[in-house]
Amino acid sequence: MPRTYLEKVIFSKQVRRADFLRFMPEGQKRELLKQASYLQGKRVVHINAVADGGGVAEILASLILYLRSLGVESDWYFINPDVGKRFFETTNKIHNALQGAPVKISGREWDEYKEISRRIAEELEKIDCDILAINDSQLLLAGYLAHLTKHKIYFSHIDTSSVFKPVWKKLLPAIKFYHRIVFSNRDFVNGSLPGRKVKIFTPAIDPLAPKQKIVSQKEARLYLKKYGGVPAHCPLIAQISRFDIWKNPMGVIQAFRIVQNTYPNAQLILVGFNTANDNPAAKTVYKDIAAVAGKSREISLFFDPKGKNVLEFTVMTQNGADIIVQNSIKEGFGLVVTEAMWKRQTVIGGPALGIRKQISNGKNGFIVKSPEEMAQKIIFLLSHPAKRRLVGNSARKTVFGSFLFPRLVLDHLKLYRSCLK
Ligand code: UDP
Repeated sequence: MPRTYLEKVIFSKQVRRADFLRFMPEGQKRELLKQASYLQGKRVVHINAVADGGGVAEILASLILYLRSLGVESDWYFINPDVGKRFFETTNKIHNALQGAPVKISGREWDEYKEISRRIAEELEKIDCDILAINDSQLLLAGYLAHLTKHKIYFSHIDTSSVFKPVWKKLLPAIKFYHRIVFSNRDFVNGSLPGRKVKIFTPAIDPLAPKQKIVSQKEARLYLKKYGGVPAHCPLIAQISRFDIWKNPMGVIQAFRIVQNTYPNAQLILVGFNTANDNPAAKTVYKDIAAVAGKSREISLFFDPKGKNVLEFTVMTQNGADIIVQNSIKEGFGLVVTEAMWKRQTVIGGPALGIRKQISNGKNGFIVKSPEEMAQKIIFLLSHPAKRRLVGNSARKTVFGSFLFPRLVLDHLKLYRSCLK
C-alpha cells in the first residue's frame, strides 16, 4: 500500500503573463484579465492519473503555470504509481469501455477500483481548495466519493461518442453528480447528462512550451540519425503517440508497406515512449507492432525511454519528418496533431472525431479512412513538396486562430467563476 495515494507536482519554473498575452487579440486579452481578477485568492486544484505521458499531463503542466501567473492559486496532484498495476489495468479497461470497447470487468476488479477510490477520496478531502477538478475516469469515482463542500468539475478528455453501455451505466451516477462536466467535443456528450452542467472546451497547445520548438529539418534529421539511427536523407514518415489500439499503428505499417513499392528508400518511425504508467496495455501493443515490423530496417520503433531525451526526441521527430501521420480511430482531440500543425507539417489523420475537429480535409491537412488511402496520400505528398508547404502554412494558421493555450485558459477561468458565483 503506498504511503499516500496522491502526489503533488512540484514546478521548477514560471511563465510571465506578458509572454502569452501577446498571442491573444485585444478583446480576448481584456476578458482574460477581467476573469482572472474575479478569482484572485481563490484556489483551484487539478487531479489526474499521471504527471508525465499523454495529452492531459501536457495540458496541466501549462495550465497550472498560466493560472498562477494570473494570480489564481493552483496545484496539480496525480496518482502515486505505487498504487499498483492492477488498479491501472482496471482503469485502462474503464477508459477503453468509455471509448466503446466491449470490456469485461470482474466483480473483484470493481471492488478494488472502489476501495482505492475510497482511499483517494479521503486524501482529496484534506486538500484545501475552492474548486476541485478531476481529469478523466481514473479518478472519477474518487472525486465523486470525496465528501467536499467544494465545487467539483469532471473533465472528460476522451471520445465518449459511443460508450460501452454496461460500464457507462455504472459510472453515470458518479458523472452526473459533478457540478460541471466538461468534454473536448460536442459529439462526445451523452444525452443522459444534464445539459445545464455540460461545457465544451476545445483543447489547445501552449506556444511557450519547449514542445513547440521549431528547428530546421536538417538539424532535426541529424539529431534523429545520431540518437535514433534514422538515415538522414530518405523520405521520412512518422507517427508519434502511445502504443495504443485506438492510435492504430498497425494500419500505419500497412500503409507504409504500400508506400515502399513507390518509395523503396522511405523510412517510417513510430515514436511512442512508454512514460505513462496508466497504460499497462502499451507493452502488448508495442510487442505486436514489433512482430509485424519484423527486422525491416526501414521501420524504427521507439518505446523504451531509457537513455533517451523524450521531449527532445519528440520535438525533433515533429520537425524532421516529411509527413506526420496520426492514424487514430478514436481520439479525444490529439494534441500531437496540433503540435505538428503548429510546426507547419502536413498531417494525414485517421477518421477520429478529435482529429476531424482540427483538420479540414485537403485544406490544412488530410483525413483518410484506410491504409490504402493513407498510402496514396503519402505517395502523392512525397512527390508534391509545394503542396506540403501550402498545406503546412494553412495548418499553422488554423492552430494560431483556434487551438492556442491562452484561449483555453480563458475558458477555464470563466468556468471556475461560474461555479463560484
Ligand atoms: N508524446 C511525446 N512523446 C511520445 C508520445 C507522445 O511527447 O513518444 C506527447 C505528445 O507530443 C502529446 C502527448 O504526448 O503532447 C499526447 O497527447 P495526445 O492528445 O495526442 O494523445 P493522448 O496520449 O493524450 O491520447
